[in-house]
Amino acid sequence: MATLTIPEEKYIELYGPTPAHTPSGGWDNGEPDKLVKTHCCFCGVQCGIQLKVKDNKVTGFEPWEEFPVNQGKLCPKGVKRYLQNDHPDRLLTPLIRSEDGFRAAGWYEAMHKTAAAIKDIQAKHGKDAFAFLGGASMTNEKAYLNGKFARIALQTANIDYNGRLCMVSAGAANRMAFGVDRAANPWSDIPLAKVIILTGTNLAECFPILTDYVWRARDAGAKIIVIDPRITPIARTADLFLPVRPGRDSALANGILHVMIERGWTDEKFIAEHTHDFDKVRELVKRYTPEVTEKITGVPAASIIKAAEMWGPAETSMLLHARGIEHHTKGVENVLTYINLVLATGRIGKPGSGYGTITGQGNGQGGREHGQRCNQLPGGRDINKPEHREFIADFWGIPEPELPKQGLTACEIIDAIERGEIKGLLSISFNPLVSIPDSNRTRAALEKLEFFGCIDFFLSETARYADVVLAGSLQEEDEGTVTTGEGRCVRLRNSVSPPENARVDWKIICELAELLGKEKFFTYKNAGEIFTELTAASKGGPIDYSGMTYEKIEQNMGVFWPCPTPEHPGTPRLFEGGKFHHPDGKAKFHAYEYRPPAEDVDPEFPIFFTSGRVVSQYLSGTQTRRIGGLVDQYPEPLCEMHPLLAERLGIKDRDVVRVVTRRGDITLPAQVVKTIRPDTVFIPYHWAGKKAANQLTNRALDPISKIPEYKVCACRVEKVR
Ligand code: SF4
Repeated sequence: MATLTIPEEKYIELYGPTPAHTPSGGWDNGEPDKLVKTHCCFCGVQCGIQLKVKDNKVTGFEPWEEFPVNQGKLCPKGVKRYLQNDHPDRLLTPLIRSEDGFRAAGWYEAMHKTAAAIKDIQAKHGKDAFAFLGGASMTNEKAYLNGKFARIALQTANIDYNGRLCMVSAGAANRMAFGVDRAANPWSDIPLAKVIILTGTNLAECFPILTDYVWRARDAGAKIIVIDPRITPIARTADLFLPVRPGRDSALANGILHVMIERGWTDEKFIAEHTHDFDKVRELVKRYTPEVTEKITGVPAASIIKAAEMWGPAETSMLLHARGIEHHTKGVENVLTYINLVLATGRIGKPGSGYGTITGQGNGQGGREHGQRCNQLPGGRDINKPEHREFIADFWGIPEPELPKQGLTACEIIDAIERGEIKGLLSISFNPLVSIPDSNRTRAALEKLEFFGCIDFFLSETARYADVVLAGSLQEEDEGTVTTGEGRCVRLRNSVSPPENARVDWKIICELAELLGKEKFFTYKNAGEIFTELTAASKGGPIDYSGMTYEKIEQNMGVFWPCPTPEHPGTPRLFEGGKFHHPDGKAKFHAYEYRPPAEDVDPEFPIFFTSGRVVSQYLSGTQTRRIGGLVDQYPEPLCEMHPLLAERLGIKDRDVVRVVTRRGDITLPAQVVKTIRPDTVFIPYHWAGKKAANQLTNRALDPISKIPEYKVCACRVEKVR
């Protein structure tokens, strides 16, 4: 093993002794000591909330009615989020693997063991043999720090993040079409729209507070079109529902555009002045007549025509999508075909007219902006562009050749571990065993690692495979910023300090950098100093935060980027006046022929399998499966199927069924509902082990975004007798 860099006496002098591990004393529910205005820790709406704090514990909440996005409203997850603080499962001290599980350890031992393993593996196998996986629920400050740590302290190319499973198809498509990756409009534009298309978004369960914006539009007379294989709660109040067959989204968008062109509902002046390549799209969609499109998508031709009649001539309109069209091997193509529908009308960059992609994770937007992706440097810069590399290398004070090149994406890192090419891994706030498809392969890969270190606040299913677990911080135990799904950078306030022997995440990262001999690059005294550096690093980049400060963000209830100078007010609405972010100021159409999913149905596996979320759970469930009230609401995964399919298979509601794909099987109760296509079954993915839907899903990747195909594969369903 490599030698340690800091003797114990020196370490104690720098960081203090390891405190005794004392059990938590619970809380007194009396009057709070303070109310802290901050934000919900879950989805990308980032609702404002006031946390009640007493004796350094979060004991409840009050609405924060002045925060304009949610005006005091919260969904079930936001209401219960305070219960994660002081939870009995909270990690209170580092853990080191022992013969019979884990033993509590001090920071000196845990940090030095981690640093020594990194040095040892890199000395034996090269720098890239050690990988880093970050998360998109963490602050912008931590996203920036993760990228800098991986490139300077680990000097590895292999850093990526769990947003690779979430937002990357939308991000890539946005950059290809508009030259920038951000929602085009603030959410306050939604109620001004006269027609809204919601495609591949279970809005009311996954982003409940945004539903209110759609309902406000509907109350003002807007028509709502919902496109989904399931009649999700938002679809129940839609004017038109298009039950698309899983994996056929691009064909449906092409079909709607076909009718719009035929009826003359395109804005030819806007197209000529502000876009490129519409002729290629016009030529391609000639083939997508309503009848041809019906055959591919399963959506009746009359409904396709109706959608075009509603969308085409609308006065104002918004198109919003989420993972339903993005979680595919053609996720980028799906998004681009829907962007074609927006660009063809010229209704973008105006009040009540535009486009948005709904962010799943709490910092799904900011988490993908500041350099923790394998292909990206701070400020949204491209790691493959020489001028971008030069800028960041100069900014960090390292020679450009020392800046690692593009590495592997999240799923590719797990594949490389499986092949034995990556030997060590450090992950923070990422639970790949639950969230990456084909979880049996993920488990086998984790078992092959020579060293696995985890930074987390609960012992996730993935962390159970770690050699060292470093007890990090909950959202309320640190401060910083996150950027919401509309591009608004908001401030998270520190409500409490980490309990007992747990530590703030960014300090753990900085201390590890010091043990790796790179302390001069990580001298931050607080999160604010990281933010100041982050904003300076973004100056002049595609994602420019350089005019932001904590004070400005607080005074304005958030600032939208780009915000390039201290005087700049921020940019809530992009593309005003038809000015896009490509060098020539024009947007690009993209012509994509429909192609089938990586795995389609066949006689052996004749039913479509799709997965998604429920309102009371969040992502891999590390937090929400620990909150009683949320567990009660939906305690275990169920297999949704239509009565026609259930009858054909001899299955009744709550019968136990086995769902089988080429990768694995899951046994669970059936939920027979009329709100799903009869050729499709749905299972939510928030559970682990034998209850994990990702035992079934397909790890085939989109060639551009490298997102896996969660939303469609082939299965068979059997009644368990
Ligand atoms: Fe708001 Fe999302 Fe939190 Fe619900 S989960 S309260 S919608 S931020």
